[in-house]
Amino acid sequence: MVLRAPSLARWRFQASVLAPVVLSLLVTAATVLAFILWSTSDLDEQSRLRELKLAEHILDEQRQTIPHDQQSVTIWDDAIERAKLNFDPEWVDNNLGSWMYEFFGHDRTFVLNDENQPIFAQSQGYPVNLGIYDADERVYRRLVEQLRERIAAGAVDAYISGDSTEYPQAVEIATVADSPAIVSIAPIITDSGRLLQPRGSEYLLVSVVYLNVAFAERLAEEYLLTGASFTRQPDRKAANTVLPIMSSTGRIVGFFEWKPDNPGQRLLARTGPVLAGGFVFALALVSLLLYRLWHSSSALEAGRLAAQHQAHHDALTGLANRVRFEEVLGRALIHQRPHDHGVALLMLDLDRFKQVNDTLGHQSGDDLIRAVGQRLKALMGPHDALARLGGDEFGVIHVARGGLADHLELSERIIEAISTPFEIFGGEAFVGVSIGIVAIGDGDIDRREILRKADIALYEAKSSGRNRAVVYEETMDELLQNRHMIEAELREALRRDDQLTVAFQPLYGRAANAVTGAEALVRWTHPSLGKVSPVHFVPVAESTGLIEAVGDLVLRRACELGARHPGRTIAVNISPAQLRNPKFAERLFDLLIDTGMAPTDLELEITESILLDDEQVAAASLRTFRGAGIRIALDDFGTGYSSLNYLKRYPVDCIKIDRSFVSQLEEGSVSVAIVQAMVTLAHALSIEVTAEGVETEEQKRILAQLGCNTFQGFLFSAPVPTGEIEAIFARSELEARVA
Ligand code: C2E
Ligand code: CA
Ligand code: CA
Repeated sequence: MVLRAPSLARWRFQASVLAPVVLSLLVTAATVLAFILWSTSDLDEQSRLRELKLAEHILDEQRQTIPHDQQSVTIWDDAIERAKLNFDPEWVDNNLGSWMYEFFGHDRTFVLNDENQPIFAQSQGYPVNLGIYDADERVYRRLVEQLRERIAAGAVDAYISGDSTEYPQAVEIATVADSPAIVSIAPIITDSGRLLQPRGSEYLLVSVVYLNVAFAERLAEEYLLTGASFTRQPDRKAANTVLPIMSSTGRIVGFFEWKPDNPGQRLLARTGPVLAGGFVFALALVSLLLYRLWHSSSALEAGRLAAQHQAHHDALTGLANRVRFEEVLGRALIHQRPHDHGVALLMLDLDRFKQVNDTLGHQSGDDLIRAVGQRLKALMGPHDALARLGGDEFGVIHVARGGLADHLELSERIIEAISTPFEIFGGEAFVGVSIGIVAIGDGDIDRREILRKADIALYEAKSSGRNRAVVYEETMDELLQNRHMIEAELREALRRDDQLTVAFQPLYGRAANAVTGAEALVRWTHPSLGKVSPVHFVPVAESTGLIEAVGDLVLRRACELGARHPGRTIAVNISPAQLRNPKFAERLFDLLIDTGMAPTDLELEITESILLDDEQVAAASLRTFRGAGIRIALDDFGTGYSSLNYLKRYPVDCIKIDRSFVSQLEEGSVSVAIVQAMVTLAHALSIEVTAEGVETEEQKRILAQLGCNTFQGFLFSAPVPTGEIEAIFARSELEARVA
């Protein structure tokens, strides 16, 4: 399964954070830009309109200024005197000619007589030939006629008499000498009222001011219109503001144009870099923020993934955990094909792990679990799933073509791998593994059911000797159901005193009929089930903890019997679960004191599984018992795989050779040699030997020959109630006395 989470996170980040931020940034930038452009162009447009108004106003003012300039010389008695009455060309030039040019900038002036003929002409400050008047006579004539008409109507008379405040003048924009110009004409009249002239006889002063470059420059200077100029044709390329200049007749005579101020563009030019800088800064800032956000969000995402991983994985081994395992199992159940027996669930539990953990320490226990995880991993196929389910439990989902044979084969390899000693802490640790196998068939859909079955098979593997694999069978389920029933019934039996009793089976010495003691064996008579064998209920009692109560009951009866018959050895079977309880020794001694039985008459029968489970604890308590004089017998001797080794290491007084050897004893059989070896070894270690399950005289004879010290079996007596064993004791005492 490929993990695509990082790219998923990136995608999610891009979709939920990056895109909106970038989009809103772009929209904001675009809006601001649009607003700036709109407002600056609006500003420019406003300014252009204002400048146009200003230009119109300037032009208007010019039209008024020139007539006004004229008034300073035309309403003047001296002018009538020197121009009309006694024509003085020099005076005229000084006052109406060059003066007008120098002082007011009138490019041309003419003095016209009463017949509208020029008598003086000035151009650019110098008197010139009168002929230049004729070049534009057509332009002047119209104005002259207009003015004459108004004078004829009495405009001058009215002005002089004070009836009117309006001094009659004619002004026009027209083309003079191929240039747009303002032409103004004024009558020369008295200023004192003394030199009155007949109406219509007034001389006229004609002033021409070109709307040319020089004039425009003056205007530009005065009114701050950059690059203002008058042109015949507007310069289309210059992007100038253009004001067409109209003559009085409505003809365009030229253009007034100038470079617009464009304050908006100026503002833009000045603030643009600042704005752009600000934008870049904001962009950088946002990018930084985004980067930080991405960083922290990807850190968050990584954390989430780690948490997810943690939730699904075991921290110690890095393998999948139970949660994940059950998920995978659930999926495997859903996707299985009909009649598909290729998939199996293997439930693994280490044997003797607790012992390693307790003796070598938790650190070593962890190391061991890790190492086990690694060995298991190495055995997995590409489609197998491995998980640590907790403690020393592992789970495998095995996919194989070969079905059950394949699963068993894998199990064998697992057992072999785990049985190989582990190098832990410089030493070697030995553990085993028990495996419960469930083949997943069609119809199996409930994963809890599968897990339950695997647990049952595992339990079976454990209780049938460990370090092995057991395949789940339906009958196991029945057994389990049975076990549950037994547990419930046993609990009930322990609450009452009429179901559980203790039988005693006598132990015989070598001398004929010499009863040395008896073994206490628990008996359960159930009201409806009848007699239930300890073979069936003792394991249940052991696995449920009920064995302590059962064991206490047996011990009490045994001690009571032992107290009444000092000198007889009373043997009691002790379960590993009992021995493991730290309070056990204390309770036992209390019982001995309570009943008054001599510790030397008590024999505890233990199996080597006690030693397997917890060597050190077992050895310590055994030493305690022996120190108090209690005898220790190793029961079912020969069935465990390292019995002989244990004999050397642990202090026992007696071994009980298992029934299975005794029952096979015949003259010349292998069992004879085996039992011989056991007896020889035990005696070499000063350990007594008891043979149990003796059923025939021949067995008895061979065992006696081999050197066994004590005999037990149906040949002598089955286990009997307390009353009967006491009778047997009494009889043997009598016989001994008789003998
Ligand atoms: P064990 O300790 O090996 O006990 C001897 C068993 O062999 C007894 O079975 C006994 O009835 C049977 N037996 C005796 N002589 C013969 C014989 O000649 N032939 C055959 N075939 N069997 C013989 P039982 O009473 O059914 O006990 C079975 C097992 O249950 C015992 O095996 C012992 O391990 C366990 N057990 C019995 N009582 C107690 C108890 O009080 N506490 C504990 N922890 N375990 C007990
Ligand atoms: Ca026994
Ligand atoms: Ca036995």
